[in-house]
Amino acid sequence: AETLAVTLLSPEALAAQGAEARAAYARLAAAGLKLDMTRGKPSPEQLDLADGMLALPGNRDFVTETGEDARNYGGLQGLVEARRLFGAMLGVSPEAVVVNENSSLAVMHDCIVWALLKGVAGGKPWVGQDVAFLCPVPGYDRHFGLCEGFGIRLIPVPMTGEGPDMDAVERLVADPAVKGMWCVPVYSNPDGVTYSDATVRRLAAMPTAAPDFRLFWDNAYGVHHLTENRPAPHDILGLTAAAGHPDRAFIFASTSKITLAGAGLAFFAGSKGNVAWYLEQVGRRTIGPDKLNQLRHTRFLRDLDGIHRHMAAHRRLIAPKFAAVLEALDTRLGGLGLARWTTPEGGYFITVEMLQGSAKRVVELARGLGIALTPAGATSPHGRDPTDAVLRLAPTYPSVEDVRAAAEGIALCIHLAALEAAGLDRAA
Ligand code: PMP
Repeated sequence: AETLAVTLLSPEALAAQGAEARAAYARLAAAGLKLDMTRGKPSPEQLDLADGMLALPGNRDFVTETGEDARNYGGLQGLVEARRLFGAMLGVSPEAVVVNENSSLAVMHDCIVWALLKGVAGGKPWVGQDVAFLCPVPGYDRHFGLCEGFGIRLIPVPMTGEGPDMDAVERLVADPAVKGMWCVPVYSNPDGVTYSDATVRRLAAMPTAAPDFRLFWDNAYGVHHLTENRPAPHDILGLTAAAGHPDRAFIFASTSKITLAGAGLAFFAGSKGNVAWYLEQVGRRTIGPDKLNQLRHTRFLRDLDGIHRHMAAHRRLIAPKFAAVLEALDTRLGGLGLARWTTPEGGYFITVEMLQGSAKRVVELARGLGIALTPAGATSPHGRDPTDAVLRLAPTYPSVEDVRAAAEGIALCIHLAALEAAGLDRAA
């Protein structure tokens, strides 16, 4: 993509833009906004969609399909009805799924800790070795933080419209220190990119110097569509097996943004060998998961169609918020060449790229308007974006009106920062 730059306008036109933008900023600052566009949280209305689930299973409904008492200990891998339902969502068989507690981030954390202390199936402990993870950028700050917390080196890889730059990835995995790679294959956080089939095939088939290399395949947004389009999940287990790397992928997902962000279900999925490895570790950690929550989820969502219907209700609530942001950005910044932004077809974020060296300033200007943004750099390893050009907007939580007001303010701040960078606010 071409570099963004202040385009050639006459000095008069630039001075006029500067005067208008500064006046608009002063007006908005006086309005005393208090808006938060920082984290990708579901709104209260989205959580309300799962209200009916809270009364379930209820009425002494606690016997599972195989006749277990869901109130008791046991059932380490999860109820077969839950594994069938969410296996269908992930495009894998019920046997390939483990149902855990509420947080997939916790499942990823456990996998990293177990890999460090004990090694993945058939491998040596990672601890004491030089360990690095490939990190598609822009990416998810909590993935990066998880690695940082354990001293795992983070190697950035640029994202393209088809997923991570595979030429770079294939070059980097020739280093035996590279033990893992973060992947959000569908509606990636934050740029909304869905990996192309060619990208996924290359990830499945590429030779890696580390025999115990793992794809950390975080399918957090697999059914979180913002359009009528519903891409099927990638068959990562089938592709890795066909390429002779059956244990390459650890799949993660949760219902945090399907049912309840704080009380959903989290999943691990993988090959036979990886499920056995996972269950061996998790069996020391717990006697069994919360199976009433699994019953609650299966009774409520029922089947894959039920999940899609539920996600369509989310979409009706949040698609207008995404549209409001895009409209506000386009109204002020369209055609100026000062910024470009994603039009995501799913997921929770809009990524805005602006003039290099201006993202921090935009966050500061927005703060002056009472608009909280995710810190500039958050989408890069260690929170440092050498270009200082990328911001992640999270429009789901505030009301449509607030999202619109915030996006108008943010667009204004991007415009103003660009004019400042050109030294035009002083000239005006
Ligand atoms: N992965 C990604 C890509 C995310 O954006 C998030 C945040 N919703 C998570 C994982 C966290 O998921 P969980 O709530 O299951 O811990």
